[in-house]
Amino acid sequence: MKKILIIYTGGTIGMHKDHSGSLKPFDFGKVTEQVPELKHLNCTLHHYAFKNLIDSSNVTPSFWQELVEVIKKNYSKHDGFVILHGSDTMSFTASALSFMLENLSKPVILTGSQLPIGIIRTDGKENLITAIEIAAAQKNKKPVVTEVCVYFEYKLYRGNRTYKYNSAHFDAFKSPNYPALAEAGVNIQYNTTALLKPGKKSLSVHTHLENDIAVLKLFPGLSKKITLAILNTPGIKAVIIETFGAGNASTEEWFIKALKNAIDKGIIIYNVTQCAEGKVIQGMYETSSALKKIGVISGFDITFESAITKLMFVLGQKVSLSKAKQLLE
Ligand code: ASP
Repeated sequence: MKKILIIYTGGTIGMHKDHSGSLKPFDFGKVTEQVPELKHLNCTLHHYAFKNLIDSSNVTPSFWQELVEVIKKNYSKHDGFVILHGSDTMSFTASALSFMLENLSKPVILTGSQLPIGIIRTDGKENLITAIEIAAAQKNKKPVVTEVCVYFEYKLYRGNRTYKYNSAHFDAFKSPNYPALAEAGVNIQYNTTALLKPGKKSLSVHTHLENDIAVLKLFPGLSKKITLAILNTPGIKAVIIETFGAGNASTEEWFIKALKNAIDKGIIIYNVTQCAEGKVIQGMYETSSALKKIGVISGFDITFESAITKLMFVLGQKVSLSKAKQLLE
């Protein structure tokens, strides 16, 4: 019997309506009591619930630190981990964990639902049952999945490639730049060539994150005053510029100068496209050539969620600026 640890953090899956009619997380105790079908799975389920159950809009870096500590403490005792999490920031958490848990050789599957588990039409039961099956899946006595994933509505994705794109459909996540790792139908079909190979060394956990970062989303009409206010924020270490198309931005002199001044001061400028699909190619258009020239770091096909958490992780490593830039690229 495979041993699976279910970590319950909050999210819609375990919510009910409070007196004002708003959905709020509650401690639904042992998940197995809510979903009796779980007793028929061929695995032993253990539970860990966060003391402070949250709507995932309240996720913070210290929440991620607690999550990786729980996984670290229970790593040798379990074959796989299922994290029940709100869907709103699930892709941020999956991305953060993918960097914080280095050399993973066991599955860490995040799931949740769009409707609470107590509602008759809930999507939570299928998501939870299949996430557990995936966390317990082994081939030749080795886990099939050895990375941080998001499982939602019949699809398993690499966590740091996902984003939440739909707040109303059960099919809430997309992974536009990387194929699904598995699809659940009558059987669970794994896309074996897309799966990450297990870490060769033992698990190494990184808990130091740096959040002195900001985002400058470009739009026609973005003012100099606002741009400078962000770039001149005291203590700022990195700024994501959310650019157009293949990483393009205004060529106005004040804008390029503002970015260059920031780079000269040691601030990392990270180019992430506003497009969900495709990638940043600095130099493809004249409107990104200057960015390349002044030392803006290309995010290539990274998601926004992954860019935020990767910056926090890399800055938290306390490496030299050139090493940090190399890791980001
Ligand atoms: N607001 C909820 C959360 O992210 C939404 C969900 O769980 O689907 O916690």
